[in-house]
Amino acid sequence: YQAKEGGGSVATYDSSRDAASTDQLALLAELREALKTDDQLVLALQPAVDLATGAPTGVEALIRWRHPRRGWLGPADFIRPVENSEQLGAFTRYVVDKALGVAAGWARQGLTVPISVNLSARSLLDPRLPGEIAEALRRHQVPAHRLVLEITETVVMSELEVIDQVLTALRSMGVQLAVDDFGTGFSSLTFLTRVPVDELKVDRSFVIRMADSPEAAAIVRTTVGLAHELGLRVVAEGVETAAQRAALAELGCTAAQGYHFFKPMPADKIGAVLGSLLDEARPNVFPLRADG
Ligand code: C2E
Ligand code: MG
Ligand code: MG
Ligand code: MG
Repeated sequence: YQAKEGGGSVATYDSSRDAASTDQLALLAELREALKTDDQLVLALQPAVDLATGAPTGVEALIRWRHPRRGWLGPADFIRPVENSEQLGAFTRYVVDKALGVAAGWARQGLTVPISVNLSARSLLDPRLPGEIAEALRRHQVPAHRLVLEITETVVMSELEVIDQVLTALRSMGVQLAVDDFGTGFSSLTFLTRVPVDELKVDRSFVIRMADSPEAAAIVRTTVGLAHELGLRVVAEGVETAAQRAALAELGCTAAQGYHFFKPMPADKIGAVLGSLLDEARPNVFPLRADG
């Protein structure tokens, strides 16, 4: 994970890169402070819906940083440096804790929708992760099956054993696992034979190209078929149009997420949205709402 670039011995001075890394160091110092506060790192929440009933199948937590000087930052602005720093563990615990706090709030409203959290592959190298997540689940009194961990398949091949142990421990606790951006990594299919997962998320790039690329359409159809055959849920991500929605339904996909349905929204909005989605979808999804 070190030396993504410049691993060689070419010693040319690159002032722009120097400035960039200075800036990253500053950002990481600021993150250390942000992790001590409650209001800088916030979750945007985006429901996925069942294409047949409109009922929410889950909600994904997406991190945003309300930076006191830099303004709103998205994951693309800071996740990479965090992943390469010693703060990754603290950051992951922070996000899981916030997400479980949100799920606990829903439970008090009688909403038992699962929440999905994105994990950086490198956090799976930390054998303490399952214990930390177990502790957070207990503290928030959220049942393990209501937490879904989204992982990408670009899992470091040289560290398979640790990662498999961590994922197996999480899954035996009852936590659900989803493969995010499915089809974009190198090891997708092998991965499925190593670690039992619960859900596949079809990457947005295939959804976008589905209409004019027979290859993309075939990948979506095959992923849906694979999920079906393995007894896994499948969710298409990045659905922006009614045409894409219809094409997905045509290909047998049962659930989707994207701007066509909902943009990621603040925590204080989501409760009401979930409540009304469940009300509209009833009686089909009666068991999802405990107080129904
Ligand atoms: P992802 O998990 O694949 O998340 C989907 C991304 O697509 C999100 O971007 C979401 O806001 C965006 N999106 C959703 N629907 C649509 C749509 O219809 N059209 C378009 N164009 N985009 C859509 P975001 O929030 O910027 O997150 C980007 C990536 O950052 C995520 O990809 C995930 O890999 C990572 N990430 C987000 N939150 C966390 C986190 O808490 N921890 C870690 N480690 N990574 C995170
Ligand atoms: Mg995700
Ligand atoms: Mg994704
Ligand atoms: Mg993605």
